[in-house]
Parts: sequence; C-alpha cells; structure tokens
Amino acid sequence: MAQIIIETYSPKETFELAKKMGEEATGGQIFSLVGDLGVGKTVFTQGFAEGLGIEEPVNSPTFTILQVYDEGRLPFYHFDVYRIGDVEEMYEIGYEDCFFGEGVSMVEWANLIEEIMPEETIGVTIEKDVEKGFDYRRITIERP
Ligand code: ADP
Ligand code: MG
Repeated sequence: MAQIIIETYSPKETFELAKKMGEEATGGQIFSLVGDLGVGKTVFTQGFAEGLGIEEPVNSPTFTILQVYDEGRLPFYHFDVYRIGDVEEMYEIGYEDCFFGEGVSMVEWANLIEEIMPEETIGVTIEKDVEKGFDYRRITIERP
C-alpha cells in the first residue's frame, strides 16, 4: 500500500490536485472519496472531472446516487451515496457496469458502502484541521 499525504490551503489547490489526477486517470480506476460534510469531496470531484476533459458542471446530485458524464476522455461515473438507504440500491442502479467497465468511478461517501468497494479502490480521504486554518485540508491518497 502506497500512501501519500498532500496538504492544501484553498479550494483551488484541491481542485488543481484532483485535476492532475483526472488528467492521469486510466480506464477502470475506482476512487473512494471519504470525509465529513463540507470538507471538499465535491470540489475534488469537479477538479477531477475537468482533468478528464468534462466541461459541463459537476455537482452533487441531491436525489440521484449516480451521475454519468460521457463527454470526457473516459466515461466518468460520479456516485454520491450519502443518502443511500441500503447497499441493494447500488445493484439496482447497476453500479457493476460502472465499476468494472471502461470508465472511471468516483464514489463520495464510499465508507457507507464499504462492503461492495473493490480491493483495488484508490482511497482519497479529506480532513480538516482547524488549528491550521479554515481552508486547510489534509488529503490522504492510498493506492493498494
Ligand atoms: P463535500 O462534497 O465534502 O460535502 P464540498 O466540496 O461541497 O464538500 O464543499 C467544500 C467547501 O469547502 C466548499 O465551500 C469549498 O469552497 C470549501 N473549502 C475551503 N477550503 C478548501 C480546500 N482546501 N479544499 C476544498 N474545499 C475547500
Ligand atoms: Mg459532496
């Protein structure tokens, strides 16, 4: 397991980090995105999407678990499972076609569906540290 920690001090820095990862992403990759509400998971996703060449706005869908973006270099599957009731809902929306297809999957709140997250998932954890400032974020990336 390779782990790197990156510290950012603004939303833009988080966006740019994720954008670079989006530029380097390869088909079949699965990312989990974990961290408290308002920590920057969607900011990260937006940067990542831009790195994939997606120009349409990416937001956290309030009532849909999955948003698909086809206009980038690779298909992009953005999951936000914050409101999921049961893991069964993931099967209902056909998550397996996303995870095990040609595109890249990004799962906000992946810790809520841990039992179906594959072993090869790349973990991204975002944390605040108020002592280091309001806009400080520690981003831990774990590659299996
Ligand atoms: P989440 O999806 O984790 O609930 P969002 O990405 O929607 O969170 O919101 C993160 C909020 O935190 C935004 O308002 C953003 O501007 C702010 N923010 C402040 N500093 C940072 C940072 N270093 N990285 C990311 N977001 C930051
Ligand atoms: Mg979000």
